[in-house]
Amino acid sequence: MKEVKIEKCPYCGGEEMIETVAGSYGGVVLSPVSNRGFRCVTLFATVCRDCGSVVRFFCKTPEKLYPKKERRE
Ligand SMILES: [Zn+2]
Repeated sequence: MKEVKIEKCPYCGGEEMIETVAGSYGGVVLSPVSNRGFRCVTLFATVCRDCGSVVRFFCKTPEKLYPKKERRE
């Protein structure tokens, strides 16, 4: 997984970021449209400490959600 470095909040320019988990049941599931059943991974959110904006939503295990070998070329 590629590392994404957020240095500044795009909303207020704040430089202090907090990494959070989006709620105790926070997670994302693969869309049923994909017809691959449901897979759930924990969703994380990077929050700006200055203005509280959620700068980024992400999961740390995208491979678990959709293994690369299943992707279409
Ligand atoms: Zn901010």
